[in-house]
Amino acid sequence: MNSTASAMERTLARHPPAALRGFTSDHPPDYAEILRCTHCGLCLNQCPTFRVLGWEPDSPRGRIYLMRAVAEGRLELNPDFREHMEVCLACRACQTACPATVQFGRLVEAARWQIQHTLPMTSGERLLRAMVFGLILARPAFLSLLSRGLWLYQATGIQRILRKSGWLNRLPSALQTMEGMLPDRIPARGMAVGRAVPAMGERRGRVALLAGCVMGTLLAPIQEATIRVLTRQGFEVVIPRGQVCCGALHVHAGERRRAQALARRNVTAFMREDVEAILVNAAGCSVAMKEYGELLGDDRQSAEAAQAFSAKVRDVTEFLDAVGLRPLPRRLSGRVVYQDPCHLAHGQGVWAQPRRLLRAIGLTVIELPDGDLCCGSAGIYNITHAKIANALLEEKVNQIRRIAPDQVVTANPGCMLQLAMGLRRAGIPTPVRHVVELLDEAGIPQEATLKPTPGRA
Ligand code: SF4
Ligand code: SF4
Repeated sequence: MNSTASAMERTLARHPPAALRGFTSDHPPDYAEILRCTHCGLCLNQCPTFRVLGWEPDSPRGRIYLMRAVAEGRLELNPDFREHMEVCLACRACQTACPATVQFGRLVEAARWQIQHTLPMTSGERLLRAMVFGLILARPAFLSLLSRGLWLYQATGIQRILRKSGWLNRLPSALQTMEGMLPDRIPARGMAVGRAVPAMGERRGRVALLAGCVMGTLLAPIQEATIRVLTRQGFEVVIPRGQVCCGALHVHAGERRRAQALARRNVTAFMREDVEAILVNAAGCSVAMKEYGELLGDDRQSAEAAQAFSAKVRDVTEFLDAVGLRPLPRRLSGRVVYQDPCHLAHGQGVWAQPRRLLRAIGLTVIELPDGDLCCGSAGIYNITHAKIANALLEEKVNQIRRIAPDQVVTANPGCMLQLAMGLRRAGIPTPVRHVVELLDEAGIPQEATLKPTPGRA
């Protein structure tokens, strides 16, 4: 860009036409960021919704154009605008593709916040949002209760009977998806918080771990595997009391205020601990926590602590790769497909680290064509936009069927549950596992066999 053009851009950024008339002044999409889009179109083919729908307003360039039109007062913030913003998976694949480095994730999150606090909502919608975002996800006790109920549903055999009878097919598709995503073995209890697990062998440091909502309840055994992996590597692991859901789902759904409240509680809970890193094994959560500094940027009381907090956040795979694995007693064998979680790859630039860890324990990593394309999980997208999510999942499952790996590996609970559901529906018995489960297996000193629990997750 020449100097005249960049001066123009700076001037426009300072004086956006009509003072962003279509948006409120409460955290609108950043106009300067909108102007960075040069309309080159290089992101289009990387955008899953554009690939499925083939329609410019459902592409990154189209969505940015719509945001600009609202900001300049040429378009009203209306239900059509809302539809195009909500069809986006917020996967950030467009960010990776963009030569102008437009931070699309932040733009779409701000647009959704504007929609959420500006457009009218039905009372049913308001109630559902309050229940999901204000109660179930925000209060660990409710989440534990729900998880306990799901454990009973499975442990008493009701799930088996209902699945066999075909009765579940009568449920609305959103409920069918939710039921289909349940892990095969839900633990009776979630992860215990407010404890510290000592390091094994020579101590290398002290880290904190996020329990998380799905990870800390339905997938709690993966959290225990994470703790074993870290302590064997010489790290004391503290799981701070007072922590809550990271708020990633809230941010994606435009629930900015509720996300800020959760972020403040986590900053307080984690910053009490003297740790060198705050570790997360769910990519959607780690990216949200790395952005707390920005989420709480306007809050004078919390901004500084939030920035210090975010600077410590690492995905578990990123951390282990950086500190280097101590030699492990077992070497695994087999061919695994590694599916990049969007929020790890596109959101945090963590591509090579999980692959290096898998290779380090003896596994052969196979790449899927377009392996970094979203699997359709995207928070609760597979529930709210089942058709598009299923189209993406079907493509992924077909590719896995062709490659026929021994296991599918990923690093995010949403991706694990989505892929496992797709494989189960297609009658493919390939297990889906988290990277840390394999690292845990390699840490057990006995004869190495790569025979995971069938149908895990
Ligand atoms: S975030 Fe994903 S779905 Fe949304 S515009 Fe970008 S590439 Fe497309
Ligand atoms: S690649 Fe970037 S600059 Fe090009 S159209 Fe997409 S968002 Fe705009």
